[in-house]
Amino acid sequence: MTEIAPIERIERIEGTERTERTEGTERTDRTERTERDCVVVGGGPAGLMLGLLLARGGVRVTVLEQHGDFLRDFRGDTIHPSTQEVLHELGLLDRFLARPHEDLPRVTMSFSGRSLVLADFTRLPTERTAIAFMPQWDFLDLLAEAGREHAGFSLRVRTAGTALLRDGARITGVVAEGPDGPVEIRAKLTVLADGRDSELRAAAGLRTLGARSAIDVLWFRIPRAVNEQMPFLLAGDGALLSIPRGDFYQCAHIVRKDAWHGDAASFEAMRRRIALLAPLFEQRMSALRLDEVRVLHVRIERLERWYRDGLLAIGDAAHAMSPAGGVGINLAIQDAVATANALVPQLRHARPSEALLREIQRRRERPARVTQAFQRRLETVLVRLAEPGERVPVPLPLRALQHLPALRHLMGRFIGLGLRPEHVAR
Ligand SMILES: Cc1cc2nc3c(=O)[nH]c(=O)nc-3n(C[C@H](O)[C@H](O)[C@H](O)COP(=O)(O)OP(=O)(O)OC[C@H]3O[C@@H](n4cnc5c(N)ncnc54)[C@H](O)[C@@H]3O)c2cc1C
Repeated sequence: MTEIAPIERIERIEGTERTERTEGTERTDRTERTERDCVVVGGGPAGLMLGLLLARGGVRVTVLEQHGDFLRDFRGDTIHPSTQEVLHELGLLDRFLARPHEDLPRVTMSFSGRSLVLADFTRLPTERTAIAFMPQWDFLDLLAEAGREHAGFSLRVRTAGTALLRDGARITGVVAEGPDGPVEIRAKLTVLADGRDSELRAAAGLRTLGARSAIDVLWFRIPRAVNEQMPFLLAGDGALLSIPRGDFYQCAHIVRKDAWHGDAASFEAMRRRIALLAPLFEQRMSALRLDEVRVLHVRIERLERWYRDGLLAIGDAAHAMSPAGGVGINLAIQDAVATANALVPQLRHARPSEALLREIQRRRERPARVTQAFQRRLETVLVRLAEPGERVPVPLPLRALQHLPALRHLMGRFIGLGLRPEHVAR
């Protein structure tokens, strides 16, 4: 098994926050109160990268994470060249590469028995020319570790944002529930980086636009032989993604929306389809149990407006991505970089204006929209692959890619760097 990062090092509150807990006279008020330049709700890729960048720029920032650690499986594992470039710019690339990972210089697939290359990263103008597969907890642990090296950084784990503080229409901070009771954190800016299920979004009155996706994804693990290489994607009568992780694959199987009922019949149907698609896995799946299969209800959504006075949403909270193309982490990181570049000079002294927050949305919305449009195009193929009993022929654009290496490099650029790669301000 891949080693799990030593997350126990994280204490409940890290950093140099000064807080006070007040005792009321008539009834005891155990609320802890603190004031920061910025409070970030959510310690995923977007929240931790933003926390690190702000603290690096001298901003006093607190990141709240509802869980006690980063050990949540079946989340994104793909760290694209654009994210590795950000780590390079931060001087963190060597520390990143020292953690267990596997490189993917080209996205390979086997489609109805034909070996194909979907995207090629080898000619990217970046320090690293491969996707790195790394369990998300290792990546997040690195960001938290790097954040702690800056005086203004504070990470509170087991602390969930539950409500917004307001002064009239302006958002002035967050109410959270921590291990020692309620906390009020007042800040010049509150950032929602709390992911696709963000509840505070609605509390801020931000409206979500989007349509249901036609697919869901089932996640599970299958044992892997030493140094074995499976095509990243197997497609034909069904579709199976296999991400290498040491001695197992983290596998994703695409099904029609709501086709999975979580019962023995669905489980058997899944095993039969995978055995046909990947006969090598038939025997290995015998150890898999129904309760080890997780379902991801795919959504492609985005907020109409990402900000209000005193508040900004970034990452999945602003634009929930489909896992197609594995670009969610990278968009979240790019949002964080753009946000920090725009806000560091401001936040040290003053509250950012709505115009500045609007500018961040304007800058980051287009990459999110175009990527989501691309994911919707991909879904038209994925939906057919999800349909049992249909052997899907290799789609024409995929066939064309095999004859045009330049196009494969272009795809590598689109997937690996995205539409508007952001760079860390010096
Ligand atoms: C099963 C699955 C597989 C995926 N595969 C890939 C992939 O291979 N590659 C890829 O790039 N992307 C992938 N994605 C998408 C990717 O994980 C997300 O796009 C990315 O993690 C978004 O980062 P984020 O920081 O915006 O949000 P998240 O990663 O969702 O982080 C939000 C954080 O906020 C915390 N939180 C939520 N509410 C609160 C609260 N009220 N108070 C405090 N904390 C809170 C959560 O615990 C979480 O840690 C996948 C997603 C899923 C679900």
